Amino acid sequence: MSAKSWVTSANELGDFPLANLPYGSFEGESRPRRLGVRIGDEVVDLRALVECGLLGGLDGRVSPALTQPTLNAFLALGPEAWRLTRARLTQLLRADCPELRDHPKRGACLVPVWGLSMRLPCDIGDYTDFYASVHHATNVGTMFRPTNPLLPNWKHLPVGYHGRSSSLCASPTQVRRPCGQTSATDEGPPVFGPTKLLDYELEVGAIIGTGNPIGTRVTPSDAWRRIFGLVLVNDWSARDVQKWEYQPLGPFTAKNFVTTVSPWVVTMEALRPYCEPVVARPGGDPMPLPHLICPNDVAIPIQLEVTIASEKMRQARQTPHLLSRGNFRDMYWSFAQMLAHHTSTGCAMQPGDLIASGTVSGPAKDSRGCLLELTWRGTEPIDLPDGTQRRFLQDGDEVGMSGRLERAGLPRLGFGDCTGTVLPAHPAD
Ligand code: CA
Repeated sequence: MSAKSWVTSANELGDFPLANLPYGSFEGESRPRRLGVRIGDEVVDLRALVECGLLGGLDGRVSPALTQPTLNAFLALGPEAWRLTRARLTQLLRADCPELRDHPKRGACLVPVWGLSMRLPCDIGDYTDFYASVHHATNVGTMFRPTNPLLPNWKHLPVGYHGRSSSLCASPTQVRRPCGQTSATDEGPPVFGPTKLLDYELEVGAIIGTGNPIGTRVTPSDAWRRIFGLVLVNDWSARDVQKWEYQPLGPFTAKNFVTTVSPWVVTMEALRPYCEPVVARPGGDPMPLPHLICPNDVAIPIQLEVTIASEKMRQARQTPHLLSRGNFRDMYWSFAQMLAHHTSTGCAMQPGDLIASGTVSGPAKDSRGCLLELTWRGTEPIDLPDGTQRRFLQDGDEVGMSGRLERAGLPRLGFGDCTGTVLPAHPAD
């Protein structure tokens, strides 16, 4: 039986029970941008909580960090400060604790989530996107290299590329269909115009807590301790632009127009009771090199779903159409391995950096995490309830992503929404 909160909406089946308490950054009427913790349908205003003196018993650095508009200063304090802060917040929100429940300023400390604008939880200095699902990499590889889907390096290191943090936006986002250079053939000539093959990619992201100085390496056994929490990520992609531009240096403008991030960071501490042992790699797969062997590695069984609702469907109030259902436990490389590899050269990470997993696809056809795979490059279109078909995204489409954890004896935990809507392109000129 899990603990109940005096915030009654937290005790109903939803993403944000007392056991979750994710952190985010928000603004509201008369509340300039600040940090909050989500519980049920409410947000705890951490600045107000500090001003009421309710966090006074913690490390003296915690209160100044929690009155910042972003999480970075708090992230830099490290796991012990995170743990004690979470313990205090959990205590304050428990049904049997009167301190905040009966406080005269409770109204200032607790604000309904409706009407708040969510921002990115932290200043994300650097963003890296990986390619860590063997199912995704094999499917995409098969389309482009049928006889040789996985390149020789793939099972030896987590492949990734350095992304663009200026493109990261908190959900919900409006995604303007980008223009770019595309070519009908591999040899050209190219044309410039709106992408015709706009896609989403279902991903999970890790927010780095404590960083490492340049020239040092995060060891695989230390890597999980440095990850503060997880978010959902939609890495919107222009496939036709990507196909023409990606060689030889990888993704560039095909992925730098918008990347949507879910605004609530679900902490590793909240996730830990749901984690599972890592399943052994299939026989015949190479052993990871020592810098990627993580003795305390875990799989995180996040059930992930992607839905689509066309403009017509939304106008007719139709339920969004389920596109896929997957699980984050199916990833080949863990975030600990991604972080260890990322820093293996001595690359510095900073509090608030984001590493994303790459598209999460599973072995089943209905667990493929992007339209490129689901429609097999557009050759197997999907029927929508409004009578139209999708090979790739159309203007007006709304893509929704959700993630949830369930385990017997524990409350359900979730990430909230990661949503974006496609707007028509600006004229190409
Ligand atoms: Ca991606």
